[in-house]
Amino acid sequence: MTRYFGVVEAGGTKFMCAIGTSDGELINETRIQTRSPSETMDDVIEFFREHGKGIVACGIGSFGPIDARESSPTYGHITSTTKVLWRDFDIVGFVKRALGVPVAFDTDVNAAALGEAVSGAARGIRNVVYVTVGTGVGGGAIVEGAVLHGLLHPEMGHIRVPHDWARDPFRGNCPYHGDCLEGLAAGRAIEARWGVSASAIARDHQAWVLEAEYLGLACANWICTLSPQKIIFGGGVMQSQMFPLVRERTRSLLNDYVDVPEITENIDSYIVPPLLGHRSGMLGALELAQRCVSLANSRS
Ligand code: ZN
Repeated sequence: MTRYFGVVEAGGTKFMCAIGTSDGELINETRIQTRSPSETMDDVIEFFREHGKGIVACGIGSFGPIDARESSPTYGHITSTTKVLWRDFDIVGFVKRALGVPVAFDTDVNAAALGEAVSGAARGIRNVVYVTVGTGVGGGAIVEGAVLHGLLHPEMGHIRVPHDWARDPFRGNCPYHGDCLEGLAAGRAIEARWGVSASAIARDHQAWVLEAEYLGLACANWICTLSPQKIIFGGGVMQSQMFPLVRERTRSLLNDYVDVPEITENIDSYIVPPLLGHRSGMLGALELAQRCVSLANSRS
């Protein structure tokens, strides 16, 4: 029998809501513009009151940072986000109280990594990194089939990469770190450095070679620390011209040290775009909801 789940991908500019089925389908996909928590969440709950009768759980993939540690008193909150209105908002508590179903919760990028691992570009692969390069940079990881949390959750956009000030005098614009990866390579950084938005920069502009330098350095770091079997890049900055540049830079930086055919021979199928497009996060949130119901059943 088909079962139904609530699915939410919570983003800084939009919330995507849908009803997901146990067959992996998404129905009634709806976009809600992100405003204050009360305005936005009223629309989210309204959506589920209208379409979500009979859902047995809800999965949320959210912008962060978030508290996804189940033992924490602030579990389910969005925490130190730069979106001030949302700081310390208890999104899980809100949805649980309104809908009366169990709620599974993770970062948007962990959800996207999970979605791609279940039915996308990393199907059947147990170790995968998913990175989005858009306005900001964020990354999630699946390690041996499980979503990586650890201390908090990965913050791959804020790793430090070497910054050659002679080549790139732009100081970086992360409010916390200046020239971390996000401060140098996010859409916001590209726009601040070149004075035009990333989407307006020609495909053969040197901006993309510099961008590939930073993303190649980041990939080399993730490969050396997490040993993923695939790296998936989504987000508006990752247009098709970026992939050959990032692959080549990553391979050259590793310099045959990580001596596996996935990198030395077949890197075109190792650093790839998402197969599920913009639905990676929602399908991952659906999987989170399904896992939380299976877990509850196995405990009872
Ligand atoms: Zn940073």
